[in-house]
Amino acid sequence: MHFVEVILPLSLAKTFTYSISETEYYYIKKGMRLAVPFGKSKIYTALVIEVHQNKPTLYEAREIHQILDETPIVTEIQIAHWQWIASYYMCAIGDVYRGAMPSTLLLENETLISQKADVFVDESLLSDDEYLIYQALQLQTSLKVQEIISILNKKNIFPVIQKLIDKNILVLQEEMQESYKPKLVRYVRLYSKYQSDQGLGELLETLKSANKQKEIVLSYFQLRATDKKPVTVKKLVEAANSSSAIVRALIDKEIFEEYFVQHDRVDFSGKKGEKQLLLSEAQQLAFMEIKNSFAQKEVCLLHGVTSSGKTEIYIKLIEEYLATGKQVLYLLPEIALTTQLVGRLSAYFGNKVAVFHSKYNNNERIEVWNQVLKNSEKAQIVIGARSALFLPFSNLGLLIVDEEHEQTFKQVDPAPRYHARDAAIVLANFYKAKVLLGSATPSIETFFNAKSEKYGLVEITKRYGNVMMPEIELVDLKDKYFRKKMTGHFSDVLIEEIGSALSLGEQVILFQNRRGYSPLLECMTCGHVPQCQQCDVSLTYHKHKNQLRCHYCGYSIAKPTHCHSCSSVDLTTKGFGTEQIQQELVTLFPAHKIGRMDQDTTRGKFGFEKIIDSFKNKEIDILVGTQMLAKGLDFDNVSLVGIMNADNMLFHPDFRAFERSFQMMTQVSGRSGRSEKRGKVIIQTYNPNHNTIQQVTNNDYLGMYKEQLYDRQIYKYPPYFRIIKVTLKHRDFEKLKEGATWLYQVMSQNLNIPVLGPEEPGINRIRNEYIRTILIKIPQSSSVAGTKKTIQKMLNSFDAVAQYRAIKVSVNVDFY
Ligand code: ADP
Ligand code: ZN
Ligand code: ZN
Repeated sequence: MHFVEVILPLSLAKTFTYSISETEYYYIKKGMRLAVPFGKSKIYTALVIEVHQNKPTLYEAREIHQILDETPIVTEIQIAHWQWIASYYMCAIGDVYRGAMPSTLLLENETLISQKADVFVDESLLSDDEYLIYQALQLQTSLKVQEIISILNKKNIFPVIQKLIDKNILVLQEEMQESYKPKLVRYVRLYSKYQSDQGLGELLETLKSANKQKEIVLSYFQLRATDKKPVTVKKLVEAANSSSAIVRALIDKEIFEEYFVQHDRVDFSGKKGEKQLLLSEAQQLAFMEIKNSFAQKEVCLLHGVTSSGKTEIYIKLIEEYLATGKQVLYLLPEIALTTQLVGRLSAYFGNKVAVFHSKYNNNERIEVWNQVLKNSEKAQIVIGARSALFLPFSNLGLLIVDEEHEQTFKQVDPAPRYHARDAAIVLANFYKAKVLLGSATPSIETFFNAKSEKYGLVEITKRYGNVMMPEIELVDLKDKYFRKKMTGHFSDVLIEEIGSALSLGEQVILFQNRRGYSPLLECMTCGHVPQCQQCDVSLTYHKHKNQLRCHYCGYSIAKPTHCHSCSSVDLTTKGFGTEQIQQELVTLFPAHKIGRMDQDTTRGKFGFEKIIDSFKNKEIDILVGTQMLAKGLDFDNVSLVGIMNADNMLFHPDFRAFERSFQMMTQVSGRSGRSEKRGKVIIQTYNPNHNTIQQVTNNDYLGMYKEQLYDRQIYKYPPYFRIIKVTLKHRDFEKLKEGATWLYQVMSQNLNIPVLGPEEPGINRIRNEYIRTILIKIPQSSSVAGTKKTIQKMLNSFDAVAQYRAIKVSVNVDFY
């Protein structure tokens, strides 16, 4: 009796046992995929995690349909890491498996398959099965895997589909929108009869009266003589300063022969730069300190001010790991940032740099997956956002988490709701690899870990090239409005500074928080925003109840008629966004080009890159944007940064609001004055004396850290308490309320730690589902694993109550 233990790509915590033959028993390895039946008629791609001889006791093991891989495509370390994620983040192992794998590796019977548009298919090269599928797709645009099973009248069809995908004939429905072109590069070569001196002589003779064609032929010879490489049409046209129409003419005359070669789709063919990277004294010192720290600790935090040249230190470090044959993973908070970085890294490492991100289509992702699995040189450095963490590394030596404080490293939905920085540290442990966390504004948690010597800490306090930190000027909005010095949302000071920067040919960045529209009640006279007395967060305005409520503890008050701070009745709930600022700018500076970077304008595969490029190329003079501007971009001509309104960040209802405001303002300010000239920053605020604003102005990270750390202790938040947020959703308001109360009571009675809620969030209904949340705070003195076990038990018993089963429950560990 022989069995395999597998993970299914479903939200199921259990693994499943299937029966296999003795031959299969010796063939199947952990990390291979199998097609297996599940339920009445479903087929899934399962992942083998064990081969054994223990008959399951609770059910009759079914037979597998088929083995899909010849060798494992998932490593044992990956499986162990995924299991850690499932257990730590309290989700199903199936969720992690499904989230980790590119979807073409996870065919199932609901998967929709279509024929790829505009691809020539040579029918004579198709097998019988392949031909049948191809035929069926001439009659209808898409087929479910299930339907293909009946067309072929057999169950083992995944390999057939996989082959057709590999042959570029089929695609998964989900990626149909993407216009995908296989990168075929066009080359030319001379017909062999012209290769000899004599042949060449004759050729030039026949081209006597076709000067332009002759020039191309001569350029071709020149190119061949300088480097012996094949000649692309592109290169040839450039070298001869000619046009491809003339190359075409030579092809038609049968002088040149054209041919196509498929280049790697994810190839940046970066030429290895000749230039040597020289670290400054401060960088060199930091570099040595990092290495010393790695000798003792697994994780090191590089806390270096904006533009201190952290990237160059990463490059030096990567160089050393590459030299020993190790793989390097470089995580970024935002996929849109990869283009800039790939350029910088390729200049040093040539085409050893691979990129893995979710905007790539499946073929591109599988290509990187396979390169990493084979430990190919082409993917020795992988750059990616959080999902790159799931690649099949075999020899990982270094992980870099750049801008480690960014909240985008935490996945919100769907499960697994993991934090990529924390999961990276755990992953490193499996490989005995090192982790470098980098930031100018580290998260409170990370800095706490560094201060308590769990992590190493290396600091750089000076910008590269001794450029000064930008000068920050505060503009008091209350005063400006009172003295009528405002034009729309612009103070006279800001308008003046923009004007003078533009007149010098310099560029300007204006920042407006995305949460400019969040429903807060703000006093127009003094800027006061009502706070919760118990939680240290701003109250959120609930329109339908005409109330202000705290999202953390449920405290609520009726919407005030006057400001509690200055008694003014001039209260507002409106915010303002980037679009409005852009419109105002058009009126203020009609002669200048204004660009906008926010969620609306950066849609599409390269939306972000296009805006960044036109700003870099100085096609845009003023760039208005949201959060995305704060993420480590390097511009050399920006001399002024304006922050339109600091207050809507500060008073966001979130225990991290002050920390985030500091990070955001410091990071945006950091885009100013990155080359020789000292930059300037204008912050418009109603609260110029607010501690956080003062800390930003004085570049006082430590002051911010100490103040926030104190608050976190008082109000029971990380790093002193770990937070788990449980979210419940259901269409029936009363049923949800009842269920949430039940769960809350069970939890608060059985857990000897703070449990808050069940709270109704500000947006209390999404897609017709009502929402309630429960917040659990685990103190350092309690066992985290033990508490989670208890919570899981309670969730299981909740699920066992018949009338609550329909309530959807999701768990967010280390909720951000
Ligand atoms: P950070 O990531 O710390 O904000 P960057 O790595 O982007 O800073 O560096 C800021 C600027 O200084 C970049 O334009 C970078 O090219 C330049 N720079 C930093 N270090 C060096 C170096 N050692 N040699 C040349 N240029 C450097
Ligand atoms: Zn007021
Ligand atoms: Zn509260």
